[in-house]
Amino acid sequence: MSRVALSRKRVKLRKFLGIRARLALLALMLVAPLMVERVRSLENTRAKQMAAASEEFAALTRHSTNIQREVISSVETMLKSAAYIRASGGIARSCEILRASVPTNLPWIRSIMFVSKDGLVQCSTLNFQVGLNLSDREYFRKAQQTGDFVFSDYLFGKTNNRPMMMAAYPVAAINADQDAVVVAGMNIDWLSKIMTNLGDRAGISALLIDSTGVVIAAPADQASLIGRPLDTVPLMAAVAETALATEAPSGSVSFTAADGLKRELNFARIPGTQSRLVVSIDEGKVTAAINREIRTAYIQLAFVCLFVLLGALVGAEKLIIEPIDTMTDMAKRFGEGDTSARVARHRLPSEFMPLARAFNAMAARLSQREREMLANNDRLTVMASIDMLSGLANRRGFQSRLDFEWMKAQQYGSELSLLMIDVDHFKLYNDTYGHPEGDACLTRLGETLAGIAADTMGFAARYGGEEFCLLLPNASALRAMEVGETVRATIQGLALPHATSSHKTVTVSIGVACTLPSESHRPGDLIEAADAALYAAKHRGRNTVVEHGFIRLVDEAGMALAG
Ligand code: GH3
Ligand code: MG
Ligand code: MG
Repeated sequence: MSRVALSRKRVKLRKFLGIRARLALLALMLVAPLMVERVRSLENTRAKQMAAASEEFAALTRHSTNIQREVISSVETMLKSAAYIRASGGIARSCEILRASVPTNLPWIRSIMFVSKDGLVQCSTLNFQVGLNLSDREYFRKAQQTGDFVFSDYLFGKTNNRPMMMAAYPVAAINADQDAVVVAGMNIDWLSKIMTNLGDRAGISALLIDSTGVVIAAPADQASLIGRPLDTVPLMAAVAETALATEAPSGSVSFTAADGLKRELNFARIPGTQSRLVVSIDEGKVTAAINREIRTAYIQLAFVCLFVLLGALVGAEKLIIEPIDTMTDMAKRFGEGDTSARVARHRLPSEFMPLARAFNAMAARLSQREREMLANNDRLTVMASIDMLSGLANRRGFQSRLDFEWMKAQQYGSELSLLMIDVDHFKLYNDTYGHPEGDACLTRLGETLAGIAADTMGFAARYGGEEFCLLLPNASALRAMEVGETVRATIQGLALPHATSSHKTVTVSIGVACTLPSESHRPGDLIEAADAALYAAKHRGRNTVVEHGFIRLVDEAGMALAG
């Protein structure tokens, strides 16, 4: 991997591991153990609730079975009592006793009858049943064969074709000489009623089935199933199969039904009969409430995590990132030259105050220092171009002004004149009056030249030593000669004593040059020309103005003579 790609990756990683990510991670690390604990306890709760539900349903099944058994054993008792009655005497007498003594407070017994050995109903608590032939009924034959109590499967009544069940008890069980059978018609509606307490639970179907899998009793909401073989009821085929296949008195089976839902099945045989109570539990429905509760808890958990994360991120943003950004912005603006940039302290958290204060103090100091430096620079620039003795521009100042005026004159096509002014016999002046006096003289000359420059729109400078110059923009040679003469005359007019000079006062010689600045010349050429003219002026006897190219002598009275 190239070094650039590597460093880019490193930058990305650093961004990823920035303060935000780290705080979010910290928040998650704080919340994670709580979350794990909560999830664990929720899952525990689910398992416990499931186990409790299973246990409850098994108990419910047992309870219902017991009730059913009690019902059936009460029938058995009734039949045994009737069998005793039958065994004790002839049919007429026992029939009378039966009708008179059978209690009517057992709602599940429809009728009790004495049946002869060949199946003929000889006596019944319901008159219309007398004369019916039950010899074809299996329960009847089975009671005769086994000599014991028999509970029939689901069947239809002979008189009314209504669904019913029968119980039979052979009198022979009491008295072996007797061959009659006592039979009871069972009210199966009532059986359904006692199952109602099983039916009102979501996800539970409770059914009482006979040995062939036909539904004998069902809670009110499933009443339509009564009389139907269970294997024709959707989803229940497997239930019937499982419940009927086993010989165990009770049990429970978990299986996935045809609809893909997990179901738990509790079944119990009603003792003494082939009937089975089947309680099928749809785990999905039963656990729906638990699952809903757990789902809500998970959602709450997710929200807590989300809020903690958001809180961490917003907190990081507000408390750390924003203050850092604010200060970075300020530093950046300051670095870009905005010295007024300061951190707005009221927007920062208190922990950042000392840093912001230090920042602002540093910025204030730096901007103060910069102001001082700029002022110093200005002063130095001015000082660098001014001659302290004469108060005029120095050579450097003159040079830059000459370049500027040269450019301007070139641009406007105007003339530019230069006067080179040299004090005559100044060495002698110094020798005569001393150097300090020489300085004072130069100062005086500087003041004079400044006045003339102001009057003539010129620019005066001390070129060096006792040499001055006067730049005259936009001045013709003639005008420059006039100004030169003014200078010469004014200085002579000062009448500064100079005993060792032939003129007895301080005088100057002046070289004048005038040009039309162009590309072919340089400013230095103008200086050289003026210098040459000055040289000529010295040769002409000093206290004289000479123009470069031709010589114009000026006498003391100001009369110009062309030479
Ligand atoms: P000339 O008429 O030919 O110009 O003669 P001059 O003596 O003026 O010329 P020269 O070049 O021989 O001497 C110039 C003198 O000016 C020499 C120097 O002592 C003096 N001088 C230059 N600068 C200063 C200054 O700043 N102060 C003083 N007091 N004297 C200076
Ligand atoms: Mg000189
Ligand atoms: Mg001189």
